[in-house]
Amino acid sequence: MQKTRDFHYRSVHDRDAFWREQAGRVHWETPFESVLDFSRPPFAKWFVGGQTNLCYNAVDRWLPTQADKPALIWVSTEVERERVYTRQEVYEEVNAAAAVLRDLGVGRGDRVLLYMPMVPEAVFTMLACARIGAVHSVVFGGFASVNLAQRIDDAAPKVIVCTDAGSRAGKVVPYKPLLDRALALCKTPPASVVVFDRGLAPFEPVAGRDLDYATLRAAQRGARVPVTWLESSEPSYILYTSGTTGKPKGVQRDTGGYAVALASSMEYLFNGKAGDTFFCTSDIGWVVGHSYIVYGPLIGGQATVLYEGTPVRPDGAILWKLVEQFGVNTLFSAPTAVRVLKRQDPALLKKHDLSTLRAVYLAGEPLDEPTAQWISEGLGKPIIDNYWQTESGWPILSAQPGVEHVPTRFGSPSFPVYGFDARIVSESSGEDLGPDQKGVVAIVPPLPPGAMSTIWGDDERFVQTYFTSIPGRQVYSTFDWGLVDADGYWFILGRTDDVINVAGHRLGTREIEESVNSHSGIAECAVVGVADALKGQVAMAFAVLKNPAAAETPEGAKQLEADIMRLVEDQLGAVARPARIRFVGALPKTRSGKVLRRAIVAVCEGRDPGDLTTIEDPTALEQIKESLQ
Ligand code: ATP
Ligand code: MG
Repeated sequence: MQKTRDFHYRSVHDRDAFWREQAGRVHWETPFESVLDFSRPPFAKWFVGGQTNLCYNAVDRWLPTQADKPALIWVSTEVERERVYTRQEVYEEVNAAAAVLRDLGVGRGDRVLLYMPMVPEAVFTMLACARIGAVHSVVFGGFASVNLAQRIDDAAPKVIVCTDAGSRAGKVVPYKPLLDRALALCKTPPASVVVFDRGLAPFEPVAGRDLDYATLRAAQRGARVPVTWLESSEPSYILYTSGTTGKPKGVQRDTGGYAVALASSMEYLFNGKAGDTFFCTSDIGWVVGHSYIVYGPLIGGQATVLYEGTPVRPDGAILWKLVEQFGVNTLFSAPTAVRVLKRQDPALLKKHDLSTLRAVYLAGEPLDEPTAQWISEGLGKPIIDNYWQTESGWPILSAQPGVEHVPTRFGSPSFPVYGFDARIVSESSGEDLGPDQKGVVAIVPPLPPGAMSTIWGDDERFVQTYFTSIPGRQVYSTFDWGLVDADGYWFILGRTDDVINVAGHRLGTREIEESVNSHSGIAECAVVGVADALKGQVAMAFAVLKNPAAAETPEGAKQLEADIMRLVEDQLGAVARPARIRFVGALPKTRSGKVLRRAIVAVCEGRDPGDLTTIEDPTALEQIKESLQ
């Protein structure tokens, strides 16, 4: 791994030269004067004075070589449609959308909020904003009115673009009525709402406010909107964090640094090249979707697959069918999707020709070893766990096969990505920790190109939230626990607020989950710390079985519980053994697939679980409640 180490070393110790080289990957209308301005730490400005544009780099720049090649491949198993847009067609659509926004008075620095499912028009609107220098804020379609209203008030958009509805697992999900409700709650609603009507669900247009996307677009057919060149540090978008741990933060991203970071990652992390096909199953409402459905692949000259659907409809082979059909080279998904597939027939993994596929990247939550192993063996492809945050914009830890081939280890997202000066630091002393010592994953600023520039409208909160929790030094805290083993592999042990204290022993819930998951009957599990009069806290495990019938009888459940307890005790010791293991049909998760541990703890402790508007399946929490009785 020497090459990876050297590459990383240079990225943080010879910053100027390293990033100047990387900046050559994107078009600069005006060259930058300096690589980095770090005169006001922890704020970092990259490629100062340079002018560029994300839309130009994603679309226009590739027209000379790829005008008639696929750029956006849309597949919806929800509405049974497929459409392949060439780069030229994307260019046409983006120009029309940009003209629509421009005529609604949207200009440089103005915000446009998108509340849209996985439809091409959402991508066109994002790129159209970038083209005219407007700041988009995509709000995940699963968010309800209250979440949406909070975000509208914070971003204060001039225009909102939405659809009548989305569709999930075959059920129509109305969007427009939710937006109407959100707007009724807002302090400063925008003057115009553009509705892309898919004809899925009826809605009440509001006269004087609501406009029809198709009509506006038709009037702008053939329009050409010149690119607005932005100074590198001007904002490209605001994206709110998932809100798993509390009030969402509006992560503000720059323009030039983001373009450079993504362009470099297409080669070093994904080993890709122009003309490849990239398939990221995330949602445009999440950071992974921003970076690797929309901007990364397109800036890298790749075709991107936009998929509206689930991994199990019409059957558990759909992802692999799409890989074969479109010759996908890189697949990017999340552990939660793999755990869903784990409950399907493993033969489905072998049903399609996957010869074009180089590797599968998974991010968003801990990837437990058994799940990684299951999918890796099932597909016969490398699995690359990568760790990042909405804040970082691109991976902080990952294997970097485009730099060097280093074997991965299940359970580890490998090594720090170039640019990220990541450390494991002591929560109490702030010092760097040595091998095998658990500490907080921190990043010594400046944060690299592509990472957040600040919290939208609140520089003070940016500094306070991220840079003041480690004593004695101004470093960025990820609020995740981690360790580096003696060979230099990094491990994420869970969030800092998920550590539990059992009779004086500090335990990461992640470790216990890994251990429970290693039982062959388990599909997934959540472990939480629950207040206990005697021990301070005890661990409680909630597990989903691959075959639910195994725990149908009380004896069956008891036997399984005992087996798993023994397993955890063998692997981690008696202190880590969960006080109880309960079997449920589903875990309460956010719509982004993250387990809502706080809500589980609240239910276990008999408290009110609080705001649950981001929950995917409310019955999952009910099941937890029932399982405790
Ligand atoms: P909020 O910050 O609003 O509470 P969130 O942290 O869930 O929400 P994201 O930015 O989407 O929002 O998630 C980032 C977090 O997800 C990381 O801090 C980490 O806890 C977890 N995570 C992401 N990728 C991995 C990974 N590969 N391994 C382990 N954990 C991961
Ligand atoms: Mg977070």
